[in-house]
Amino acid sequence: MAGLACATWLHRAGRAVLVLDGADAVGGRVRTDVTPDGFRLDHGFQVLQTNYPEARRVFDYGALKLQAFRSGAVIRLADGRETTVQSPLQRPLAAFSALTSPIGTLSDKLRIVSLVRHVLKHTPEELLARPATDTLTFLRRYGWSEQMISSFFVPFFGGVFLDRELTTASNFFEFVFQQFVTGEAAVPALGMQQLPEQLAARLPVGSVRLGTSVAAIVDGTQVRLTSGQVLDGAAVVLATDGLAALRLLAGRSGNADDASTQAAGFHTAARLTTCTYFAAEGHSPGRGDKLLRLNAASHVLAHNVSFPADVSPAYAPAGRALVSVSTHGERSLTEAELTDGLRQELAAWFGPSARQWQHLGSYRIAAALPVYLAGEPTRQPLKLADNLYRCGDWAAYPSLNAALATGREVAELLLAESRPS
Ligand SMILES: Cc1cc2nc3c(=O)[nH]c(=O)nc-3n(C[C@H](O)[C@H](O)[C@H](O)COP(=O)(O)OP(=O)(O)OC[C@H]3O[C@@H](n4cnc5c(N)ncnc54)[C@H](O)[C@@H]3O)c2cc1C
Repeated sequence: MAGLACATWLHRAGRAVLVLDGADAVGGRVRTDVTPDGFRLDHGFQVLQTNYPEARRVFDYGALKLQAFRSGAVIRLADGRETTVQSPLQRPLAAFSALTSPIGTLSDKLRIVSLVRHVLKHTPEELLARPATDTLTFLRRYGWSEQMISSFFVPFFGGVFLDRELTTASNFFEFVFQQFVTGEAAVPALGMQQLPEQLAARLPVGSVRLGTSVAAIVDGTQVRLTSGQVLDGAAVVLATDGLAALRLLAGRSGNADDASTQAAGFHTAARLTTCTYFAAEGHSPGRGDKLLRLNAASHVLAHNVSFPADVSPAYAPAGRALVSVSTHGERSLTEAELTDGLRQELAAWFGPSARQWQHLGSYRIAAALPVYLAGEPTRQPLKLADNLYRCGDWAAYPSLNAALATGREVAELLLAESRPS
């Protein structure tokens, strides 16, 4: 997404671009597989927040036919009870109804109202620039009860961060909270891969080369492909994930651990998640309510469950339902063991028929999101050397918005540097 965003802005400014991607399709972490039966399987459960400033700048939302989840979630509490919170961040007092909701005290609900007011007073950039601690400490200092934290914030934002300990920096939490208050969580009608496809389709024919892996960055004007071919350009923009970037630069400097790459903020620690897909026959177990299912219990395998075809029917063939189950963190289980464990939990959650759901596929994504902790800047240096730049979420914070934003910023740096004086 970062590389395509960079190319989009350069192309709009009339510059020639060549995008090299080692994969067989564009998108990087934003990919969708279509099974022979017609299920669309995104590589991990992910959504586009419709109010992301960068997304609004580059995407044509109408052409994507965005389909939104309903704001809120059905939360399975640690004791097995379910509670539904609708629009918890937009209408907290109504969502966690004081009379019926087993989640949160009245002051917990009033604190959400207060945080909503706070985030609405700021721009996204201002929230990202705020002093940070880890999110759990932030929530405790704000005064929420432990029950509210474990029943709502951990399953909800632990799913967004892929980090149930909520160690992620609180400035990013405030930004994400604002995005949920002001926008919708949506998917393109035909799957998440439509996002990169839309950007790639606007570039001139031949300017995106797939299946083309870069073996080394020679310098800011040359890259060497794994095929041995050397390509020249006026500048090189490194838009890989952090680990791949470090390896490519190691070829240049001869030392992956050299001080300059450390100083430039090459964080390669990442959050892991596994998404397991099942097909259910007949009506959707999600009852078509377009709400996410979140598990507040600890020591479980099924953290989030969603029914993507309830949101966009094109995700499943007629008469069948798609079930997406996310498991965050390392489990040290084989795919078969994880699938088996999930079936048992899902049967307790959605009824015994869950044991018969057909396993469609599993995506274990080891480097799903860069770890982003308090104290880290929201922007690492984007210029690495003469004519050599980098962009991507690992140069900022773990979000599509960051990937798109750093791509645009590198394009602006390049345009500024090549402007006739
Ligand atoms: C399961 C999951 C859920 C997520 N949920 C959300 C969400 O709900 N909201 C949100 O905002 N963000 C979410 N994200 C994060 C978001 O997807 C990423 O922040 C974003 O896609 C990162 O884009 P990128 O361009 O920085 O990097 P990448 O997508 O990692 O792209 C790197 C590219 O470099 C290519 N490449 C690597 N090495 C080479 C080489 N040697 N030669 C040529 N090409 C190479 C790769 O093929 C790839 O195309 C999620 C991510 C995952 C995995």
